[in-house]
Amino acid sequence: MSDCIFCKIANGEVPTDFLFEDGNVVAFRDLNPQAPTHVLIVPKAHYANIADGVPAEVLKSMADAVEAVAEAEGVRDSGFRCIMNTGAAAGQTVMHLHMHVLGGAPLGEGLL
Ligand code: 5GP
Ligand code: ZN
Repeated sequence: MSDCIFCKIANGEVPTDFLFEDGNVVAFRDLNPQAPTHVLIVPKAHYANIADGVPAEVLKSMADAVEAVAEAEGVRDSGFRCIMNTGAAAGQTVMHLHMHVLGGAPLGEGLL
């Protein structure tokens, strides 16, 4: 996807500091953080969302990234939230699969 910003970031075309990287995914800070920790976990390959035939090895890498980021950010024990907005009606604005990892402050209750 040549015009996809997360493809460009994940594949190094847009220089970005990665908090985690393996063969399948990268993790980097959100441009507009909603909490002290707000990291995005993004596959290197383009999937529209979590319901787009994502291979098991990519899902495993996403889980590995969550664990590494939570540990590095110091929220692994205190608690954090993982969100995948899926589709426009759910608030997805970048149509390349990504998981938000939020923490470092009380996040409240409710849908999100
Ligand atoms: P969504 O609403 O699709 O679930 O979340 C997209 C997220 O990507 C938003 O939180 C937005 O701030 C973030 N974002 C959009 N463009 C960029 C970018 O170029 N760099 C970074 N680091 N984050 C971005
Ligand atoms: Zn993409």
